[in-house]
Amino acid sequence: MPFFVEAAEIRQITFPVAGEYSFTDSFGDPRSDGRTHLGTDIMAEKMTPVVSAVDGYVSYLTVTEPYWGYAIYIKDSDNYEYRYLHINDDTPGTDDGNGGIQYAFAPTIKRGVNVSAGQLIGWVGDSGNAENAGSHLHFEIWTPSRSVINSYPSLMAATHTPIINISFVFSKDLSLGSKGQEVYELQKYLNHNGFIVATTGAGSMGNETTYFGPATQAALIKFQKAKNISPAVGYFGPITRSFINSSYVVPSETITTLQPGLLVKNKKTVEVFYVDENMELRWIINEQVAEKHFGPTWNQIIKEVDDINEFGLAYGPNLQ
Ligand SMILES: [Zn+2]
Repeated sequence: MPFFVEAAEIRQITFPVAGEYSFTDSFGDPRSDGRTHLGTDIMAEKMTPVVSAVDGYVSYLTVTEPYWGYAIYIKDSDNYEYRYLHINDDTPGTDDGNGGIQYAFAPTIKRGVNVSAGQLIGWVGDSGNAENAGSHLHFEIWTPSRSVINSYPSLMAATHTPIINISFVFSKDLSLGSKGQEVYELQKYLNHNGFIVATTGAGSMGNETTYFGPATQAALIKFQKAKNISPAVGYFGPITRSFINSSYVVPSETITTLQPGLLVKNKKTVEVFYVDENMELRWIINEQVAEKHFGPTWNQIIKEVDDINEFGLAYGPNLQ
């Protein structure tokens, strides 16, 4: 008896979420209202950057938020369409539903514009019926003949492009009037994370500058408020620096065994621990200590675990 296996159609794409995420194959799952789930839900924190999966153009974009949430569609040159749903609708740091288009889509993204694979287009959120499901990107792939295919195999095979310099480690205090490379990196970080320094011109995405002026300060204050960093006065000191440095984690598989020499953190927190030769967990008190022991790219070797306490290790003295 002949036996046929239909090969899954795989599109060559860039992974659409640039940050920490998790997803399973949920294509075809029944949904409560009788519909079938046509996409893959990529769970990620609100305001995680969403990037274009392909070179193409914006074929559809919601300018005002419909009841089903902010959405953007991108078509590639083969006429495949990539649909992104539940784009962010909240003011960062809140669940108010009042973020507006400025916290949904990157400033230059409009219907008809060309985008390239890996380009920032917007931010993850919980708009529409994702309000109670937790923030995630719902990602669909449609063929030129307008049938939907399972996006899961393409996502599994996707390439990952970091959109910001994840090896950069901030080391200087910055404030109004500061100049230099660190200001440039800070503006890039703020822009990519939705805390826009400027919509056009100097300080806008792709036109970041080395000067810390009032626009940088205003964007930094918004960031600090959203992240509960106090005082939120636009001063870039040790607290904000350490927050950003430890958030620059290279997305990697969650690990399930610990070995001496590893730097580990829980998925949901920023505290980083070192597993020493006695298998004791030692909290790394700040980024200067991390750099002293592990070099300037320490934040690239951090591994993530679901719950550090599940390993039953003792806590040793803090690493100083
Ligand atoms: Zn979904």
